[in-house]
Amino acid sequence: MNDARNPHAGAAQEADVLVIGGGLHGSSSAFHMARRGASVIVLEADYVGRHSSGVNAGGVRTLGRPLPEIPLALMSREIWHALPETIGDDGGFVPSGQLKITETEAELEECRARVALLESHGYTHEKLIDRETVLELEPALARHVTGGIWVERDGYALPFRTTTAFRLAAQKHGARFYEDAAATHIEARGERWIAQTPRGAFAARKLLVTAGAWSGELARQAGEPVPVHPEGLMLMVTHRVAPFCRATLGATGRPLSFKQFDNGTVVIGGKLIGIADLPGRHGEVDFMRLVKSARTVVDLFPHLRHLGVNRAWAGVEAFTADSLPIICASRRAANLYYSFGYCGSGFQLGPACGRLVSELVLDGAPSLSLDAFAIDRFERASARAPLAGAAAH
Ligand SMILES: Cc1cc2nc3c(=O)[nH]c(=O)nc-3n(C[C@H](O)[C@H](O)[C@H](O)COP(=O)(O)OP(=O)(O)OC[C@H]3O[C@@H](n4cnc5c(N)ncnc54)[C@H](O)[C@@H]3O)c2cc1C
Repeated sequence: MNDARNPHAGAAQEADVLVIGGGLHGSSSAFHMARRGASVIVLEADYVGRHSSGVNAGGVRTLGRPLPEIPLALMSREIWHALPETIGDDGGFVPSGQLKITETEAELEECRARVALLESHGYTHEKLIDRETVLELEPALARHVTGGIWVERDGYALPFRTTTAFRLAAQKHGARFYEDAAATHIEARGERWIAQTPRGAFAARKLLVTAGAWSGELARQAGEPVPVHPEGLMLMVTHRVAPFCRATLGATGRPLSFKQFDNGTVVIGGKLIGIADLPGRHGEVDFMRLVKSARTVVDLFPHLRHLGVNRAWAGVEAFTADSLPIICASRRAANLYYSFGYCGSGFQLGPACGRLVSELVLDGAPSLSLDAFAIDRFERASARAPLAGAAAH
């Protein structure tokens, strides 16, 4: 922790923008805002990068994104490739490519339809490849694969390093980070937002909520309840093994995210659900579910069947009812903004979303449309639902 204790006991610390949550999204937003001259305070309940942003699988993946996320993911990918020029650190980014393999003809058909759909929307980053090309790319894969989708400019990075790099870059531009500073209560008083924390009160004209799985409670305090729930996502890492896989891998018919680091260890995940303890602020591993995913790996790479698992862990992540994040201005309160609910895929989006959120907060308009991520979409959907039901009868 490199921030001083609040020297003004009793008086609120002030900034232009108060950010609640020091994960990648809070740190990236703080960086982009501070770089433009805004004074920014980030409040973090634990330490920066303690939760999803520091413990995720590091997948930098545009592959497989829902359509509304694709413009954000493509924008983010360009920032990932230029990270050293942007924040002075590459975050450990390796442009390994991402490969989603298929194991049956039906899965390959599914991928063919997906690529055609993307092309009809003008997106050409996902390429359908046949079995021979898959095996040329990854010769150690089991022979039963039938093909896949390949994205060459995707890859992986180191989560804690990336989040820390954004935090340090934000600090270089004057952003102040307070750790062990959970915002327990937020309220608007006149022109200002006030957040109460065990380290005193903090105030700003604008408030940005980037509190990951804990954001729902803050939105509720602002009178804007939203269907967001926590999940404990699990990962495991193996002992070191000789290099055998270059690309970051996923599968079509079963959950898998798989990559081998330069040090030989293999990280295995794929949105594997463990246990989320929101009040306790930690995730727990469900070993029985991990076994299933270890089996997938052995099916695909039979030579790994005797490889030991070194460590497993779980991180707490925010999921929404429609699997899309919430990135918007509040519909109920002035000068309140949200960026959370990244549903297990928000690491790749961090660099671009931070920039777009900075535009939203400082200019009132982001350079890419964020309409699909409005917080009131759930209310609008449930208001429409009874009508749709009535029409069906
Ligand atoms: C195991 C795992 C694997 C994943 N793999 C990938 C992947 O390969 N690729 C990918 O793109 N994404 C992946 N993700 C998802 C990705 O990590 C998240 O979407 C992303 O990190 C979310 O960032 P965030 O800043 O919104 O949230 P977080 O990282 O959770 O940060 C929110 C922060 O807010 C703080 N906070 C909460 N409440 C308060 C409060 N009241 N006051 C102050 N601070 C508060 C928390 O302590 C936390 O540090 C994975 C996630 C997990 C858990």
